[in-house]
Amino acid sequence: MARNARRAARAAERAAKKHPKLVLGVILFLVIVIAVCACLYFFVFKEEVDNFLAGLKKPSGTDGTGTEIAAGDLAEISSADLSIHFIAPAVKASGDSALIKVGDTEVLIDAGPTQGNVTEIKEYLDEYCTDGVLEYVIVTHADTDHIAGMVGTSSGGSYNGILYSYDIGTVITFDKTDKKLETAAGNPTLYARYLTALEYAEEQGADVYTGLQCWNGEDGAQRTYYLDEAQTVSMNILYNYFYEHDSSDENNYSVCMLLTQELEGGKENNYLFTGDLEEKGEEYLVEYNELPHVVLYKAGHHGSKTSSNDVLLKAITPEYVAVCCCAGYNEYGAAEENVFPTQAFIDRISGYTEKVYVTIMWDEETDGYKQMNGDIVFYYGAGEGEAQKSLKLWCSNNTTILKDTEWFQKNRTWGGD
Ligand SMILES: [Zn+2]
Repeated sequence: MARNARRAARAAERAAKKHPKLVLGVILFLVIVIAVCACLYFFVFKEEVDNFLAGLKKPSGTDGTGTEIAAGDLAEISSADLSIHFIAPAVKASGDSALIKVGDTEVLIDAGPTQGNVTEIKEYLDEYCTDGVLEYVIVTHADTDHIAGMVGTSSGGSYNGILYSYDIGTVITFDKTDKKLETAAGNPTLYARYLTALEYAEEQGADVYTGLQCWNGEDGAQRTYYLDEAQTVSMNILYNYFYEHDSSDENNYSVCMLLTQELEGGKENNYLFTGDLEEKGEEYLVEYNELPHVVLYKAGHHGSKTSSNDVLLKAITPEYVAVCCCAGYNEYGAAEENVFPTQAFIDRISGYTEKVYVTIMWDEETDGYKQMNGDIVFYYGAGEGEAQKSLKLWCSNNTTILKDTEWFQKNRTWGGD
C-alpha cells in the first residue's frame, strides 16, 4: 500500500513537471466545482440537504430511540409509580381527557368531549382517585371538547361537572379566549358556565392560575410542580407565545405542559401535552422552550392536519403517540382531509414512529362509536425493585398500533405506501 502511494506521488510529481498547465487547470477546475457546490448549498439547497441529513439521523419507526415498553396488566396500574391515562370518551365525538397519577397525586387535563360524558369520566377517575381530591386540574383551552366535562350537566339547578365534584387543589387554566359569554338568545354560553364552575372551585379552596402566571411564577403560581415527595416527577408549564398574544385560532391558546420523570442512572422520561396547539403555536413552542426528546406525545388537536407539524416533531422525536379522537367520524365537515386522524398527520408522524394509538372510532353500522384501543394507559413501575421497573402499555380494548388496524387499512396509507 505504502509503496503504491509513493509510486502515485512520484507519478504526480513527474506529470506536474511535464504538463504544468494541465495540472494547474485541473486544480483550478476542482476549486471552481467546490465553490459552485458551496454556493448551491448555502444559497439554494441548504434546507433540503439539512433535512435529508436530519432524516438519516431520525429514529426509524420500528426501533424508535430504544424505549422498550412491555405489555401492561390492569391490576398493576393503580400501584405504579406513575401512570398516564387517555380516557376513551363514551360518546361519538373527539375530545380530550387525560389523567396523570403519581402516588396519591392526580392531575386531570381537560374533560371532554361533551357535558353528558362527564359521568363516564368520573367513573373512570374514581377508580384511581380514591380520596376525592384532584390535586391539579389543567384546562387547556375554552373549546367545548375540553371544558364540557368541567361543567357537566345540571339537574335541579346543580351541575355535576369535575369542578363541582372533587376537592381540587390547583386549577391551571388558559389565559385567553375569544368565546362569548352569551348566546344570541341571551343565554349563558358553555364558556360562561365554565367561569361559574371555576368560581365555585375557587370558593371551595382551589388555587386558580393561568398558564402565564405559572410560567412567570406570579401570584403564588409555579412554573414547576413536583408530583411526588422525592421530587422525581415534575410537571412543567411551558411558555406558549399565545398566552399573551392574540391568535385567530382558539386552539393556539392551549396550556402546554411537559411532564418529566427522573429515572435511576441519570436518565429521564419525558411526556408532552400540547392541548390543541396549532402550527404557529408549535413554532413558538419550539422557539421559546428547550424541548427534549419525548417518550410519549399526546397528538395535538386530535390528529388534525394543522397540528403535530415537523417543526415540533423534529424537536421532540416522539416514540409513542396517543390520539384522543373518534377515528373516521366527520364531525368537522365531510372533507376527508379534516377527518381525524388525518392523512397529513399520519404522513408526518410516520417519519418518527409507528407506535400510534387511538381511543375510539366511528361505528359505521350503528352511527355510534366503538373502541379502537379504548382507554390508553402508559405506566411506569410496578416491578420488584428499581431494576425491574419499566414503562408499560395497557389498553382497555387492544394494543394494536393504528397502521395495523382494519380501519386504517381501509381509510389511510402509511409512509407514502
Ligand atoms: Zn379539541
